[in-house]
Amino acid sequence: MTRHAIVIGAGIGGLATALALHRIGWHATVLERASELGEIGAGMSQAPNALRTLDELGVGEQARQAGVPTHATGNLRTADGRHLQRARPDDPAALLAFHRADLHRVLLDAIPDGWVRTGAEVTTIRQDGTSATVDYSGGELSADLVVAADGIGSITRRLLWPDTPPPRFLGRTAWLGIAPFDGLPGSVTLGPGAYFLIHPLSRARAYWAHITTADQPEVRYEHEKTEVARHIRDWHDPIPALVNATPADAVIHIDIRDLDPLPTYINGRVALLGDAAHAMSPDRGQGAGQSIEDAVVLAAALSAEPTLQAALRRYDTERRPRTQNTARGARADGRRTTSHATYRALTTMIRLTPSALWRKGIDPDSNPTWRWHPPHLPDSRETGTAARGTAPRSRAVSGHRIGRGR
Ligand SMILES: Cc1cc2nc3c(=O)[nH]c(=O)nc-3n(C[C@H](O)[C@H](O)[C@H](O)COP(=O)(O)OP(=O)(O)OC[C@H]3O[C@@H](n4cnc5c(N)ncnc54)[C@H](O)[C@@H]3O)c2cc1C
Repeated sequence: MTRHAIVIGAGIGGLATALALHRIGWHATVLERASELGEIGAGMSQAPNALRTLDELGVGEQARQAGVPTHATGNLRTADGRHLQRARPDDPAALLAFHRADLHRVLLDAIPDGWVRTGAEVTTIRQDGTSATVDYSGGELSADLVVAADGIGSITRRLLWPDTPPPRFLGRTAWLGIAPFDGLPGSVTLGPGAYFLIHPLSRARAYWAHITTADQPEVRYEHEKTEVARHIRDWHDPIPALVNATPADAVIHIDIRDLDPLPTYINGRVALLGDAAHAMSPDRGQGAGQSIEDAVVLAAALSAEPTLQAALRRYDTERRPRTQNTARGARADGRRTTSHATYRALTTMIRLTPSALWRKGIDPDSNPTWRWHPPHLPDSRETGTAARGTAPRSRAVSGHRIGRGR
């Protein structure tokens, strides 16, 4: 009998979950509060751990076509342009860079039609021994399992983990943008108290992020592009030109927050996943990658364990240590790379590191976070348990478009 899940949120974590459930023969309904599907106009990188996991989901090839190799971890510079480490153009690049919307689309295209409902904001969740039920702006829906991939501000976490402190402001703020700019190899430039990241993107574009310290969150400017341009005006080429080439209304300004480690990611028939469970500072480029890992580990546990409860316990036991260690490391990396006090020591240490050693550190096989391998997902086509298109038990109180919302 086909089992049903409700996935809250159609970000990368939610879509990866729907796809992983599809692979094991479950049916999922994804409830997304936004009226249209998509991702913010920014970039991201995915490391070998996440790329392997996308392979397990059956979309690795599509992801590799959408992504562009980036040497951001091999090209380290200081704000005056000196190279601390320099990648050779023919070095294999461990990371692939994406426009977020492109990676999102790869996942969305692999999910069965009709699984995603937009304009569907979840407001409450309740559960008993046999099912979990959510109320959302389109009605009420019950299923065997609820996977909450509803992001850093997760309503599920606030409802079912009421004692959890809110996400913590880490004293850093970031401007992000995408500009038409071809031929950049990817780099990270360190300045005192700040850094500037560049990734090449498909279709002759480049993604940039400027991350710097901030005393308080929520400080916003009338002209964000002018403000970030002021911060980097003396930095080496092509940084000022890249910011200048970015449309002013496409510059995004966000504050950096993460979550303190939760004691558990599960509550009855509800599992937290992705940023809802372990929002992390972006400094290791791992947040979305970890959510993709979560999805595959959860599906593998559901297919291997005899009961839902055992599967959720296994998911919780396997994912908390890895995701919380990664979050801890990302928080520390961010502190180090934006520290005024240790800037000189950090840049000296990187400059003095023999390039062979540096290259080994960014080799996919030696980096401990990147070395991770996903569990194998039994393909429902192999086991004959493919989802047969049945939907969770639903009582609609208002009409909502069901579909891809594109
Ligand atoms: C500056 C920056 C750079 C980053 N760079 C990288 C990188 O290079 N690589 C990487 O892997 N990660 C990176 N990350 C992290 C990554 O962006 C996140 O970890 C990832 O997007 C989380 O995905 P998610 O699906 O868990 O949550 P989200 O993407 O936040 O999706 C949550 C979804 O749930 C929906 N939702 C929320 N509440 C409800 C509700 N009540 N009902 C219905 N729907 C709801 C939202 O609308 C949203 O669509 C970066 C983050 C930042 C801030």
